[in-house]
Amino acid sequence: MSRPARALLDTAALRHNLEQVRRRAPRARVMAVVKANAYGHGAPWVARTLSTADAFGVSSMEEGVQLREAGIAQPISLFEGFFSADELPMLIKHRLAPVIHHASQLQNLAQITSDHKLSVWLKIDTGMHRLGFAPTDAAAALQQLRASPAVAEVRLMSHFARADFPQDTATVAQIKLFHEQITGSGLESSMANSAGVLAWPASHLDWVRPGIMLYGASPMIGQSATQLDLKPVMTLQTALIAIHARRKGDPIGYGGDWHCPEDMPVGVAAIGYGDGYSRHAPAGTPVLVNNKRVPLVGRVSMDMITVDLRTQPRAQVGDPVVLWGQGLPVEEVAEKAGTVGYELLCHVTERVPRVVV
Ligand SMILES: *Cc1c(COP(=O)(O)O)cnc(C)c1O
Repeated sequence: MSRPARALLDTAALRHNLEQVRRRAPRARVMAVVKANAYGHGAPWVARTLSTADAFGVSSMEEGVQLREAGIAQPISLFEGFFSADELPMLIKHRLAPVIHHASQLQNLAQITSDHKLSVWLKIDTGMHRLGFAPTDAAAALQQLRASPAVAEVRLMSHFARADFPQDTATVAQIKLFHEQITGSGLESSMANSAGVLAWPASHLDWVRPGIMLYGASPMIGQSATQLDLKPVMTLQTALIAIHARRKGDPIGYGGDWHCPEDMPVGVAAIGYGDGYSRHAPAGTPVLVNNKRVPLVGRVSMDMITVDLRTQPRAQVGDPVVLWGQGLPVEEVAEKAGTVGYELLCHVTERVPRVVV
């Protein structure tokens, strides 16, 4: 048998989560966000499994080309657009639609000489203050795009900064500002990420852009994935590879700063930060052994973790250990580790085999 660390991928859960997007935004088309290797799940697999999605969103040309090479035919948008003019022939060749977020990109577009055209998204900054044209500059940018012989269709988009907080006034203001921009433009528009899909119906518009909810994690503060009827797609799983009876006071692992409070069994599981399990997960972070919660103890090593088996005295070497996924929400582990589920999912490393179940 080989090393037991696996990322199990649930096809039915992924499709179920897309259905949840459709149920909540019935009039919008769905651009499934598969950037960063589909949040660690494998972009080609996710895009093929979500064959009914209307489009896909990635961050860069490289990610878009990977999908085209995997045979994906739907429209693909590049959320960071292009980084220099030399990418433009590839964008045209592969029908990749860049987000135009900065004046420098307008100048680059002017250099296109072929008769082939690009579809583009014009990004308007309604309050995120990261990428995009200020609302006062958007009309001029739009005029330039419409005048450009290299540009076919233009669509309008904006992005939320804090849609994960329900009832947030900044989000209300973002929606209002974007509505002012799109009204009367006659152009298709898009604003909603997962939190927008779930909590802000006024942001659904023509296209929604869900990412994290497709993977079955909750983007909402104070609402679990289960409450939102989302199912985890990835279950990060391994097995116990050793169990030792330790004595009261024994230090466990690197640094020796966690000590056994009494004589107790300590299990060793084959997963660590070399697999993408966060080294910031502190003692007490929940782990499932035989589907029962036990606390992590000691520091996370590159290849292993140690767990307190006092409540699971019959656990044996070879028993399954789940780090997140089915039965243990990734958001809960992320909160313990001082991060978000997005980061944990993205960080699962290449050495962990993805196994579709
Ligand atoms: C990542 C991203 C999304 C998806 O966000 P989620 O919170 O994962 O739903 C949507 N739009 C843009 C521009 C993004 O960068």
